[in-house]
Amino acid sequence: KIMSKKIIAGNWKQNGTLKSSISLAKKVLQAVKKAKYTHEIIIIPPSIFLLPIRDLIHKSQIKLGAQNVSAFSDGAYTGEISGSMLKDSGVDYCLVGHSERRHIINEDESVFSSKVSRLIDSDIRVIYCFGETLNDYKNKKTKLIIKSQLKKLFLNNKNNLKKHPSKLILAYEPVWAIGTGLVPSPEELVSIFKYIRDTVNKLDKKYSPIKILYGGSVTPDNASSLMDTKHLDGLLIGGASLVAKKFIDICSTI
Ligand code: PEP
Repeated sequence: KIMSKKIIAGNWKQNGTLKSSISLAKKVLQAVKKAKYTHEIIIIPPSIFLLPIRDLIHKSQIKLGAQNVSAFSDGAYTGEISGSMLKDSGVDYCLVGHSERRHIINEDESVFSSKVSRLIDSDIRVIYCFGETLNDYKNKKTKLIIKSQLKKLFLNNKNNLKKHPSKLILAYEPVWAIGTGLVPSPEELVSIFKYIRDTVNKLDKKYSPIKILYGGSVTPDNASSLMDTKHLDGLLIGGASLVAKKFIDICSTI
């Protein structure tokens, strides 16, 4: 297997103050400077804190991610932040399709497709989250759901993704594992990650460089065993990324 960079991304969600966010970023920065990790470390603060954190991590190994982007290009869209604004503010990555945006904000695949397009147009890498709900899981529909989510993503963004496959990172996040302390078993993960890789490769050979992350209740205790899963290129971390020590421990342990 060709050695490629592992990815560790911390999604801070709608948490923290300006002060606590800067302090968290500073702690991660110090650890990263000391440890010189070979993986790609991404922190994803609330949009309003992106700029001060950009100034802090500027020229470091840490990359900046946004949690959201407008589905539209610049113009009369009150309250929205465009891909080009994010790019201009030093953002390298952006989440799309997170389960909280699917299930609480009620965004759908067509919104996600527009967002993916805007981001690729703005030269920002997309971290596309997908995964089955608890109900799907109980009804053994996991693979069916993942396949349909992936098919929609790749069909709706065919031209962009064929041209820029490495601009996409997939993040498999079973909804029932997000913030619950539950994680799929090693056997389930092996089978699902193989399935995701096969599904992506079957769509087009050009998609083989696309990295696949796991997200859902990752902690310093389970990170290294999760990373043993074949075809898994990194981790997307929610809760644990809000505690500097936990996030750093995860970075150190994988
Ligand atoms: C997430 O929301 O992307 C996530 C993985 O959350 P948690 O780590 O808290 O389960």
